[in-house]
Amino acid sequence: MTEIQKSISKLEASVCPRGMKKEHFDYQHIIEDCYHAVQKMHLRGKVASYIPELARVNPDLFGVSLIDMNGNTYEYGDSRVPFSIQSISKVHTLVLVYRQLKSELWDKVNVEPSGNPYNSFAQLEFEKGIPRNPFINPGALVITDQIMSLYHDDKRTVLNFISSLCGAESVPVNKAVQQSEMDCSNLNRAVAYLLKSHGNLMHDIDDVIEAYTHHCAIEMDCTQLAKSFLYLANDGRCIFSKKNIIPRNLTQRINALMLTCGFYDQAGEFAFRVGLAGKSGVGGGVVAVLPGHFSITVFSPMLNEKGNSKKCMHFLEKFTTKMGISLF
Ligand code: GLN
Repeated sequence: MTEIQKSISKLEASVCPRGMKKEHFDYQHIIEDCYHAVQKMHLRGKVASYIPELARVNPDLFGVSLIDMNGNTYEYGDSRVPFSIQSISKVHTLVLVYRQLKSELWDKVNVEPSGNPYNSFAQLEFEKGIPRNPFINPGALVITDQIMSLYHDDKRTVLNFISSLCGAESVPVNKAVQQSEMDCSNLNRAVAYLLKSHGNLMHDIDDVIEAYTHHCAIEMDCTQLAKSFLYLANDGRCIFSKKNIIPRNLTQRINALMLTCGFYDQAGEFAFRVGLAGKSGVGGGVVAVLPGHFSITVFSPMLNEKGNSKKCMHFLEKFTTKMGISLF
């Protein structure tokens, strides 16, 4: 090796894309630091209770798992405790529909942030049954309805899809959580009726609600969830199943939607404070990706008033700030 080659390879070893220094990749150390810093804040929030079965979770659970592009896992705390993924499933179901319908999908669901809570249907009335985006409940009900048209055994398809994304690990559905949500689903049913009256829901309302609550009641731990999102940081290719899940240009659009709509009426704040593309669920999980670098899941069931996990939001803000990186 010539002197110049030596100095180039030394430079390459110490400087990573976008000017990140190699020492910034000490993920384990930074995760543990941020975890303890958040614990010291003694944050309290409310566990979701409008689905009564979700209120049985231990509010003090707190776990993190980050997976880099080589599949290395860095985790801490309750990272292997399964929890209800709830609205995080909206990303998995969207991908299943988007990769079939491509841009035709956007005739049925829009791509604008709603600036409203996930379960609001105020805009749906004015906007003639076209939901603002696929990550609020009206949008996810339309996506569920489409899955039912596109796939023969739709519920099994969703479970198999998620399981293959995380390396063929089986992902169970918590039947008690599903039943509990079905028993308290008046608001989602009202949304479904409104969609149907505008011709934007094909199937029987009971069947759509049953399928939707099935996806929401899937249980996964932080590591499984981070694995199942890694392809979104990898131009659509899953390193565990070795399959191309969706083309690169569609992957970029899914990430754009997560950035702008993934946290409902707190999406702007998440982009501002954290700067990653992500998605939350009322089970207390938050998943986020930094394309080309990692996918990360944080879990803590105590929620803020917008239905997003309090500790997770603070953790991710500290994490990207300490790392000195974000989408921007
Ligand atoms: N199943 C929940 C609901 O429909 C999901 C909400 C969420 O996670 N934000 O209300």
